[in-house]
Amino acid sequence: MSSAAPSPKTFRVKSFGCQMNVYDGERMAELLAAEGMSAAAEGDDADLVVLNTCHIREKATEKVYSDIGRLRRDDGSAPLIAVAGCVAQAEGEEIMARAPSVKVVVGPQSYHRLPEMVADAAAGKRATETDMPAEAKFAALPKRRKSAPTAFLTVQEGCDKFCTYCVVPYTRGAEISRPFADLVEEAKLLVAGGAREITLLGQNVNAWTGEDDKGRTVGLDGLARALAANPDLLRIRYTTSHPNDMTDGLIAAHGELEKLMPFLHLPVQAGNDRVLKAMNRSHTVDSYMALLERIRAVRPDIALSGDFIVGFPGETDTEFEDTLRLVEQVAYAQAFSFKYSPRPGTPAATMPDHVSASVMDERLQRLQAAINRDQLAFNKDSVGKTCDVLVERRGKHRGQWLGKSPWLQSVHFTGDADIGQMVTVELVDAGPNSLSGRLV
Ligand code: SF4
Repeated sequence: MSSAAPSPKTFRVKSFGCQMNVYDGERMAELLAAEGMSAAAEGDDADLVVLNTCHIREKATEKVYSDIGRLRRDDGSAPLIAVAGCVAQAEGEEIMARAPSVKVVVGPQSYHRLPEMVADAAAGKRATETDMPAEAKFAALPKRRKSAPTAFLTVQEGCDKFCTYCVVPYTRGAEISRPFADLVEEAKLLVAGGAREITLLGQNVNAWTGEDDKGRTVGLDGLARALAANPDLLRIRYTTSHPNDMTDGLIAAHGELEKLMPFLHLPVQAGNDRVLKAMNRSHTVDSYMALLERIRAVRPDIALSGDFIVGFPGETDTEFEDTLRLVEQVAYAQAFSFKYSPRPGTPAATMPDHVSASVMDERLQRLQAAINRDQLAFNKDSVGKTCDVLVERRGKHRGQWLGKSPWLQSVHFTGDADIGQMVTVELVDAGPNSLSGRLV
């Protein structure tokens, strides 16, 4: 039992990693605000700091300890520190043992208990909570209020795929789908609060399934169709998907549902079947390519996005060339690429033939050059098109606005517009990461 401290009045939630963590960070901020606390102003000290951690990259855990260390003030005092997210889930007790300045450790499925744990900590009681009752969490979260023009909505959590390099099944637990009615309700509140575009989130979002308001079992396409019925909701997106959960209904929805945006993030990780097998991706290069063909058949202008890992244990030069060949064949509008990093407790971490750092660097550079080539080509192909842009915020120049095209490209333009407005823009020039437009 450590000494009591005054209850924190201000807070700061720092989220690292994926959009799911960003969503969780927003929900934790809402929870603390519902307790009467206020978010500390930019640059100001906060009484409570929540480090919402990511466990995906190498040294992720060490990074948490250096972030904790950086919170110590010049006078030796420190804010009340809470560690949340996937590192909290994976290393809870260890953090409590190694970092006495941390008063609260809470996992991704238990952060609905954060306010009471913070109150206990202020009274001197340190606590760890890493249970996995995802359903209880959502039921305990406050109703959504104000929203930006674009909002995230977590519909699915956890993963049952067990790719051999990934910690998510261990840190986020088994796949759960949030109830249809709860999601329709939360989406309605987000739209009433100002959202015009909602991105449905899940580690395996296209595995979502549920019973709709007519008692039918539906998949993600059924949910998207129900949400699209809200006249004030203009756009729907979803991420992150697994190739094996792309249902016929979801593919068809890309051809039929106007509000479902022509953008699909569909990680493949590698372009060689032996590597995919060692990763336990349970699909092949051919099945992935056949899937893309079916999707492009119903939505020829769809923007495809992917994830890649270079240097997976045992990956040969020839196998890496296969990955480059796949990237060339698909011509992604954008893609994320990473060097393999061993995660404690995952099967791949103990596999033989780890690839040297210098070889991984060289492969990553070549892969990113190919990805950037295709991203620029995709943007350049968009020049001359006229499309809708949802205005998200002001640009840095006078009268300039920023928003996203249907293909999730960043677009800037000048003219008479406002945040949350859908405007029509002619795309007049393209760069690697954004396009400029003329208001039509
Ligand atoms: S499907 Fe994604 S989240 Fe699930 S284990 Fe594989 S990489 Fe991890």
